[in-house]
Amino acid sequence: MEIAIVGAGAAAVGLLDALAATTAGNPGGPGTTGTPGTPGTSGTSGTSGSITVFEPSPHLWRGRPYGPDLDTVLVNAPPAIMSIRYQDFGHYEAWLGTRGAAHLDPALGQPLVPRALYGEYLEHTAEAAMATLRAGGWRVRVVTQRVTGAARSGDRLSLQTEDGRAHDADHVALCVGGGTPQDPYGLDGTPGFVGDPYPLARTLGQVPPGSDVAVIGSGLTAVDVVVSLAARGHTGQITLLSRSGVLPHVWQRPVGHRPQQVTAERVGALHRKHGVVTLEDLIGLLRAELAEAGEDFDGFVAELLATETEDPARRLRAQLAAVDDSRIGRRVLQETAHAVGPYAWRLLPEPDRLRLRRHFRLATSVASPMVPVNAAVMMRLLDSGQLVLAPGVRKIEAANGQFRVQGDDGERTPDVVVNAMNPPPRAIPRAAGQLATALLSDGAADLHPSGGLLPADPRLHVVGDLAGGGPFITSSILGIAAQASRAAQAIVTAPDAARAT
Ligand SMILES: Cc1cc2nc3c(=O)[nH]c(=O)nc-3n(C[C@H](O)[C@H](O)[C@H](O)COP(=O)(O)OP(=O)(O)OC[C@H]3O[C@@H](n4cnc5c(N)ncnc54)[C@H](O)[C@@H]3O)c2cc1C
Repeated sequence: MEIAIVGAGAAAVGLLDALAATTAGNPGGPGTTGTPGTPGTSGTSGTSGSITVFEPSPHLWRGRPYGPDLDTVLVNAPPAIMSIRYQDFGHYEAWLGTRGAAHLDPALGQPLVPRALYGEYLEHTAEAAMATLRAGGWRVRVVTQRVTGAARSGDRLSLQTEDGRAHDADHVALCVGGGTPQDPYGLDGTPGFVGDPYPLARTLGQVPPGSDVAVIGSGLTAVDVVVSLAARGHTGQITLLSRSGVLPHVWQRPVGHRPQQVTAERVGALHRKHGVVTLEDLIGLLRAELAEAGEDFDGFVAELLATETEDPARRLRAQLAAVDDSRIGRRVLQETAHAVGPYAWRLLPEPDRLRLRRHFRLATSVASPMVPVNAAVMMRLLDSGQLVLAPGVRKIEAANGQFRVQGDDGERTPDVVVNAMNPPPRAIPRAAGQLATALLSDGAADLHPSGGLLPADPRLHVVGDLAGGGPFITSSILGIAAQASRAAQAIVTAPDAARAT
């Protein structure tokens, strides 16, 4: 069997790791930390062939977020949910070992390492998986080329790389990520405009320390920009420009609670019983989870909904004070949004999905919180007045060497504008545009009505944010590991796996 993996970021690492687990016939995968209940993909001992990974970037296995950058660019989540091995919650923590101690977030009591260090973990995991696969008889290689085309040819898929070469495969997994920011205000090429902030080590070098900086967006990337500017000793004004003005929530200290009601098993059981799962069903599960813990569901919901109207600085202060609050509500929502959400989302009727989409900013803010160490810097800058939030931004334009920003509170004229808006989930990344067009015109894939690609051929697989029909929030490592495990399962149990060489 020949497998082609397009892209070498976290999704590709999760897929290689899950494939390696199958060859070793080892249910926990190579080097498992032995977390109880770790399921492996079934049944490929004896299967072998070749795996070719295509990636043009020199920073293999790190994808967009985890390449070399400033030490202030941190992972956004605690170790238990940063494991790229599906359901082995200790895999990343075991790799990190004593190195974690140097990166403890004092409020969270958890190590939050620079993203570049997390990239080393991905690199290590990919290399270990490739070694296991090779020991199991697989040929594994990396082609440092972008894939630009694809077509079905007989019972195989043929990929084309930028150098014009063709590469045939029995299975193709698209692991191309979400891509770089769009340019909604048409500012690309304007002096003083930073279209893609990463790596911040390079882009912030162009920002004069005393300049008036406007950051488009108020999500996690905007937080990265602000915190890194502060660490570089920026003295000028920093303004977060956003339509909603909503900041990410703040992580709370883990309390070791495992959801008992909001689980994939319960959602599956509801689906089997009623043939459908509604938003009310999911709310019912959360209500039951909170009731078991003796917590007030209605109060919790009211508190969440206030995100859309309450002053963001006041909320930030309250959330910093609540890092140690032992109530489980937010913790359950944060974990299950990524662990159960993608599965439940596909079962929801469209009107219920629409209802959730209307709360996109709130959902993203809760599901992808900022780490307390960054929240503390944001609070300090807001308190000193160096950082301000400007909601209700309507227009940003460049004229006569100056930026002009029109918003609810009038006009601003920043010296530098940094784009910190990531593409929405299901956007087709520019680097994979030609490939996606080729797959669509060949009929190997369809466009999902809500964006993203749906394989129309059992030999095509999509892992990551490009997967059509996926949830409306960006995938986390937890969600990507689950998708990668499912894709590995589909590949190794496909009918052609039986006749593998
Ligand atoms: C800035 C940022 C920070 C994040 N931080 C966290 C975090 O701390 N915790 C967390 O849980 N989640 C985080 N996420 C979400 C998620 O973990 C990441 O988005 C994750 O890295 C996605 O992995 P991926 O492999 O799907 O995509 P990517 O990491 O984007 O990798 C895709 C790869 O595909 C390659 N590619 C694209 N097109 C082609 C082509 N045509 N041919 C060949 N190769 C191609 C690209 O060069 C790239 O290397 C973050 C996301 C972003 C954007």
